[in-house]
Amino acid sequence: MEVKHKPGLVRSFLSRLDKIRSLQREGDKSRSRSARWDEVRDEHLASYPFCLACGGRDLLQVHHIVPFSVAPDLELVGSNLVTLCMGAFDCHLYIGHGGSFRFYNPHVLEHAGAFQAAAVGGRLRLLKEAKDSRRR
Ligand SMILES: [Zn+2]
Ligand SMILES: [Zn+2]
Repeated sequence: MEVKHKPGLVRSFLSRLDKIRSLQREGDKSRSRSARWDEVRDEHLASYPFCLACGGRDLLQVHHIVPFSVAPDLELVGSNLVTLCMGAFDCHLYIGHGGSFRFYNPHVLEHAGAFQAAAVGGRLRLLKEAKDSRRR
């Protein structure tokens, strides 16, 4: 790597680090999750093996529309689950959670459904709407 690219590399490293920390925080909440969660998650990923927002297949995660902390009874309910990614667009973080895993976006289906078809300006608007809709 050339020295002149270093600031960009540092920024990209720091943004990765934020992502990892966010994922760890979300992981921490899952301690009291059902023993069946891994199985339910894998079945969901087998049925929906792409991100609902961007259509990508990298770093897929199964997101709870209403989070476990708010509705533990919906933990294993299929209609409460949606596949989102932490690939190029970090759809899980930005569309599922409005930019922070401490929040969730109650309009995730609407925003994710519109994302793939939207042009760049529309996508930015959707990310802003997701952030403005987020709830704890
Ligand atoms: Zn995605
Ligand atoms: Zn999530």
